[in-house]
Amino acid sequence: MAHAKLHIPGPVEVSEKTFKAFCSPMIGHRGQGFKDLYAKVQPQLQSLLSTKQLVYLSTSSAWGVMEGAIRNLVSKKVLCCMCGAFSDKWLDVAKRCGKNAEGLQVDWGSPVRAAQIDARLASGEFDALTLIHNETSTGTMSPIDEIAGLKKKYPNVMFIVDAVSSMSAVDLKFDELGIDVLLAGTQKAFAMPPGLAVFVCSPAALAKAATIKDRGYYFDFVEFQKNAAESMTPSTPSIAHIYALSSKLDDFFQEGLEARYSRHLRLAKMTREWALNQGFNLFPEAGFESVTLTCINNGAKPGNKRTVDVAKLQKLVKEQGILIDGGYGKIKGTTFRLSNMGDETDATMKQLYTALDNAMQKL
Ligand SMILES: *Cc1c(COP(=O)(O)O)cnc(C)c1O
Repeated sequence: MAHAKLHIPGPVEVSEKTFKAFCSPMIGHRGQGFKDLYAKVQPQLQSLLSTKQLVYLSTSSAWGVMEGAIRNLVSKKVLCCMCGAFSDKWLDVAKRCGKNAEGLQVDWGSPVRAAQIDARLASGEFDALTLIHNETSTGTMSPIDEIAGLKKKYPNVMFIVDAVSSMSAVDLKFDELGIDVLLAGTQKAFAMPPGLAVFVCSPAALAKAATIKDRGYYFDFVEFQKNAAESMTPSTPSIAHIYALSSKLDDFFQEGLEARYSRHLRLAKMTREWALNQGFNLFPEAGFESVTLTCINNGAKPGNKRTVDVAKLQKLVKEQGILIDGGYGKIKGTTFRLSNMGDETDATMKQLYTALDNAMQKL
């Protein structure tokens, strides 16, 4: 079957160049060749995340590190900020790890605000919090600067941040933010095949992890640090992914990070405009729209102006060779999502809008 171009919010379309790098001849993971490869991507990752800390490579999807962060850093109780399917799930995952966990739930489509978190942390019950920067299920971004600002008031609380669908599309300065963990899976804005996660920890997080029992081995942050210091990973990594990452990071710096960030913002704005012009409105609260995907209100939220048969829309768009997303979790069908993350350009986005326009005429 012909390949349908991915405009779903992950995995996203992977370039020929990236695939070619992915298919590099295999090397041993304890040899100099691998160390050289990791040592080459390390400063690029540190530059991407504006950090002096070592950036770790985890052969897992993002959830591996999300669960790992809970197992490494929670001893008293974790506050899970919840505003969509992924962030809601993190509470469940924390409980499955046997941790005390509590949710701070806001309406889907709303961001989580610092004042709400502050009110809960003030109880002194918590030693960690989880936050999803860009809630992919609702296309909503929470204000990371404002929230990270709370770290000064609560230095002993571990701030664990998922930037799975925003890392490399938005400037995230890890050291300056002062948070404790920042993580992403590479099948989203990095536009790589799924199966690799990158993450970074603060010195405080590493010190805390060292005091926590039962953190296991595969996702032991102390092991990641020890190995990364020698340009290695704790276990045999997906070396193919790291070749792909190396190629991808070269792409990022060739484009320029600022250009990359403004491209994502520009394309997201174009998609929002397409939706508004078609008579839809957006699902996220105004001012908190994601820059990597657009979540369109198709009835999930009161006040929608237009409603379409999303399954039919998907089908009509797919007939033109493009896959779009029909909404996630409890807002499946009452929203739909269009991704602009990764390697998309003005030209490729225009192809998407043309396909959508054609489809809309047949609805
Ligand atoms: C996709 C996604 C995840 C889950 O990633 P996996 O790679 O499936 O583990 C977690 N958080 C966010 C925000 C996501 O978009």
